Amino acid sequence: MFDIEKIRGDFPILDQKIYGKPLAYLDNAATTQKPQSVIDAISHYYQADNANVHRGVHALSERATAAYEGARKQIARFFNTRSEREVIFTRGTTESINLIASSWGHANIKAGDEILITHMEHHSNIVPWQLLCERVGATLKVVPMNEHGELIMESFDALLCERTRLVGAVHMSNALGTINPIASIIAKAHAAGAKVLIDGAQAAAHLAVDVQALDVDFYVTSAHKMYGPTGIGILIGKESILDGMPPYQGGGDMIRMVTFEKSEYNDLPYKFEAGTPHIAGAIGFGKAIEYIQGVGFEAIEAREKELLAYANAKAEAFDGLRRIGTAAHKACVLSFVLQGVHPHDLGTIVDREGVAIRAGHHCAMPVMQFFRVPATARASFSMYNTEDEVDALFAALKKAQEIFA
Ligand code: PMP
Repeated sequence: MFDIEKIRGDFPILDQKIYGKPLAYLDNAATTQKPQSVIDAISHYYQADNANVHRGVHALSERATAAYEGARKQIARFFNTRSEREVIFTRGTTESINLIASSWGHANIKAGDEILITHMEHHSNIVPWQLLCERVGATLKVVPMNEHGELIMESFDALLCERTRLVGAVHMSNALGTINPIASIIAKAHAAGAKVLIDGAQAAAHLAVDVQALDVDFYVTSAHKMYGPTGIGILIGKESILDGMPPYQGGGDMIRMVTFEKSEYNDLPYKFEAGTPHIAGAIGFGKAIEYIQGVGFEAIEAREKELLAYANAKAEAFDGLRRIGTAAHKACVLSFVLQGVHPHDLGTIVDREGVAIRAGHHCAMPVMQFFRVPATARASFSMYNTEDEVDALFAALKKAQEIFA
């Protein structure tokens, strides 16, 4: 049974008033709130265990190391990696993609090669590849989408060719909510000899991800979209690929031996973790994963589906509202424009009613260009949201409409 009261009680931030109205936090695609267990784990670490990891011989350092590496183990199990060596801690999705572009990209992409991404990528899965293509003389190709915000798979098949070295695709679009057919994308890309990077920034909190079953080469995500802290994320990569990649940054922890003539690099995953890591962040990430596991994806998916269906029905019935992103397979995101009200004004007005949504291009400007809108308003849901909060959103939209009428 999905106990919504219990779940909401786990997130202390939700219980507050904004301008005298109950907070309805519907900006989960930007970042999710944190359960008390995550907050406690982080504060316990700083209160009781704080020390630098790996090199220490004292008790606190051993405890900090055990907690940090324990989190890596939890994450490895959660995503079903082959080993913990396949889990690299980064600052988040953005850094993970930059790491791949910089390290794997420079070693493997040459002039004339092609990188294939999709029209619905977040800027963080566009710009690093543009930078790489400019440097090495490779070409960036884009899989188009249809009016529903679904990838046109026939075009993907046509664009995929012997020059394609990497396919980069978002698992779940932050701007549209579309869930892409990544299993099929991965299988086809592999058949064509290309590697695949999946941007799981949005998906990982909403769907179970098994990297071995998917046979994905790189899977990246951010803890803060999964009820964990900001400033920490992961790059999951196949060991066979990561092993052959040059380091991303140089510094402490990523080396085995240093002389002025030459340095020997550390084993995975440390080869890619230069410097003191975000220890508290990793510990909080581990706790967040424990929280998700405690609720379970079956319950999460069922609940979020219900909530999205409720919001969609309200949106359909709302005069002057145009939904952006109507894919058959989507989750948790209601992106829309309201006739006569700019999304930014909308965001400000609904905030006065206690409703937190996002207005803008959502770091996906090509999506806005495709739908010929400067911006959208976006409500994005999470397991702790309620039908009452959806009602509050639509009541606030009504108010905005009246103000601008
Ligand atoms: N990709 C997608 C689909 C996202 O939604 C986001 C965050 N909005 C990112 C990448 C970037 O994540 P971060 O800012 O945590 O690095």
